[in-house]
Formats: sequence, structure tokens, C-alpha cells
Amino acid sequence: MQTEVLIVDPQSPETIPIARAAEVLRRGGLVAFPTETVYGLGANALDAAAVRRIFEAKGRPANNPIIVHVAEVEQARQLVAVWPLVGERLAVRFWPGPLTLVLPRRDMVPDIVTAGGPTVAVRMPAHPVSLALIRAAGLPIAAPSANRSTQLSPTRAEHVLHAMQGRIDLLLDGGPTSGGLESTVLDLTSAPPRLLRLGLITRSEIEAIIGPIVVSSAPPTGEASLPSPGMLPRHYAPRTPLECAADGSARVKELREAGLRVGRLALSDGGEIELPGVTTVRMPAEPSAYAAQFYATLHVLDAAGLDRIVVDLPPDHEEWLAIRDRLRRASTPP
Ligand code: AMP
Ligand code: MG
Repeated sequence: MQTEVLIVDPQSPETIPIARAAEVLRRGGLVAFPTETVYGLGANALDAAAVRRIFEAKGRPANNPIIVHVAEVEQARQLVAVWPLVGERLAVRFWPGPLTLVLPRRDMVPDIVTAGGPTVAVRMPAHPVSLALIRAAGLPIAAPSANRSTQLSPTRAEHVLHAMQGRIDLLLDGGPTSGGLESTVLDLTSAPPRLLRLGLITRSEIEAIIGPIVVSSAPPTGEASLPSPGMLPRHYAPRTPLECAADGSARVKELREAGLRVGRLALSDGGEIELPGVTTVRMPAEPSAYAAQFYATLHVLDAAGLDRIVVDLPPDHEEWLAIRDRLRRASTPP
């Protein structure tokens, strides 16, 4: 398969590429497109055969359900069996935006989208290209991140092409995505609601709207009982072994002395930065700026032929929790 690439203006997407991509989706094809979090790999959410092609293209295990993207609250309500008041209040506050809500599904949602489970995850992305595409297709779009399963998420069109060229029909290239981390996933089927994946919207932002929620702890080992595979211990990972360090400069010196080729994600306020023989990227000391560059930086270091990537661990503060969570999952177990 040839992957067609169409450039699109991220702020005011042109009609022609959007119409072309919508047509591909309507006839059961796969389209990668930018969202405000990372690039998504979309298919018609109501077409089981089309969604199956997402699993094939990603090498995604069948027990991992897919988020359905909508352009209106009404479109989400058509997919769910109940739309609770808390859902309405969260949607009013955070949609379009990086918050995914898990709710009881309706029968029209194919089993493959929900991994056979009784719930469906829905979200309205805050990106003009995503919204234009969903509206032009006139369909809800099932879309996980546009990377091969367990690997780094794509925040630029080139990351998508690298992983997916020849596996998908079309890529809408709308430039780098701004958010850089995946959406927060919140399960509204349990009381109190349960955070299944940390993301750009924080726990306290959610609690300010609907009151106390709980954070899902690490999943049990049995695959069937996973609350959400985004909670898997290893996920979002580079191929190069990665480790976090409280004192990054001491750790890279140690590894250098042992003869390893080392790369480092340093915090710009974190002590001694430039060390000879170490490929160092100075990351912003502000969480949203850090998140926006995070995957792109890991993609670069992962391609640099290194033996080890050392990451200075950001502080244990709420606004860093989603990044610390991704770092933990990207780390190689000792
Ligand atoms: P991604 O594949 O990167 O888009 O991630 C989607 C995340 O949402 C994964 O962690 C999924 O496991 C999670 N997810 C999608 N649908 C559901 C659902 N119905 N229930 C729980 N988690 C879900
Ligand atoms: Mg993903």
C-alpha cells in the first residue's frame, strides 16, 4: 500500500485534503491525523473491519480498546448508553480537549472498538484538523496513537511516516502537535470516578468540577483484568534503554566511565548540564513546554545510536505527574 501524504494548515484546514481524507475514512480506510495531544490513527468507529485494520497496522493486542473521537457532545451521546451529569459537566468544561471519558457503550459500537468490554471511551479533540475531519466524514472516528504498539507516540508527521509508511492509506500532515502527551482517561462507570491514565488534564482540575475521584493503581498481572492497557508497566517506550536519575549528571558520568554512549534529557535548571561526550538535550523546566517536546526529543535520541538514555527526574509535583508516569513506563526495568 502507498501512503498518501497531504499537507494541511493546522489552524484553518483546507477543504480539499480534509474531503479526501474523509472519503478514505468513509470507505473503510486508515487516516493518520494531528490532534492536540499526539497524532492519531483513525478509522470509521462504526465499521468493525476498518477498526480491525488499525490493530493490524499498529500490531496492537486485541485486548486494548480504542478511544472514539467526536466533534460534538451529541455525537458522543449517541455512542453511550447513559450520559451522566458528571459527563455533561466535564464535557462543558474540558471539551474540546485532552480528557477521555469511559462510559457504558451502546450496541452500535462494534466489539472490536471496546475490546469486547461493556464500555466505550469518547473524547472531543481540540484541534481544527481533527474536528474538520470528523465533521467532513460525518462519523465518529476510532483513533489510538499512530505508532506501533508499545513504542513512542508520534508528535510530528515524520514520526508517523517512520512507523506507518505503507501500512496506512493517508497521512494528514498538520505539523507538530502542541500538547505532546496523551489524553487523561477517566472512567465514569465506577463511583467515585477512576483515573485510568494520567494526562494533560490533572486530577485536581477534574476534582474542581466533579469532586473527589480515585487514581487507578498499577494493574494486576492478569491481562483480562487490566482496567486500561495504557496503565501497562511498559508502554510509550524508546528502543534504547532509558533510565531516570535523581542526579542526572552523576549518573551519566558513571555510565561514560563504564564506556557507554550516553544521551541525557536534562532539566534546564538541573545542575551541571554540558558534559563532554554526552549527547545532552536541555528540556524546559515548565511542565507543558516539557510535554510538548518530550516524545520528539526521545525520537531523536532513540535514533542517535546510543547505549543508554538518562533522564533527570522532574519534581514530584502534581503538574509533573503525567510526565513522570510516561517516564516510568518508558524506563527499562533494572
Ligand atoms: P492510545 O492507544 O494511545 O490512544 O490509548 C488509548 C487509551 O485509552 C489506552 O490506555 C486504552 O486502554 C484506553 N481505553 C480506550 N477505551 C477504553 C475503555 N473502554 N475502557 C478503559 N480504557 C480504555
Ligand atoms: Mg498509544
